[in-house]
Amino acid sequence: MDCLFCKMVKGEIDTKKVYEDEKIFAFEDINPQAPVHILIIPKKHFASLNEMEEGDKELVGHMFFIAAKIAKDKDIAESGYRTVFNTNKGAGQAVFHLHMHLLGGRQLSWPPG
Ligand code: AMP
Ligand code: ZN
Repeated sequence: MDCLFCKMVKGEIDTKKVYEDEKIFAFEDINPQAPVHILIIPKKHFASLNEMEEGDKELVGHMFFIAAKIAKDKDIAESGYRTVFNTNKGAGQAVFHLHMHLLGGRQLSWPPG
């Protein structure tokens, strides 16, 4: 399958890796929208949150748990951060391998654009 993020997981494309374990991989976004902008992805390919099934709940929970850990490591846990999944075109999803954005290090506005 021709998936950019699957290639990153396999090490076929260079990334600025932030975290890795047997289930997930995290790296710096190439076009950061905040001083801290990290993408957290499952190693298994899912196009979006819409493809997650009952048995994947633990994986999604793990992604959130690691997002909070990275936020602490990057020293944005106290100041504040946002975790976002964009799902499908209407939400601005451009890469169709499930990913969580972790954004922080500046005042984030609400509602998002
Ligand atoms: P989304 O719009 O939610 O699908 O987000 C896709 C994200 O992937 C964007 O924030 C892009 O900047 C990021 N991105 C695309 N290509 C790369 C790459 N080669 N390395 C790191 N991040 C990337
Ligand atoms: Zn993929």
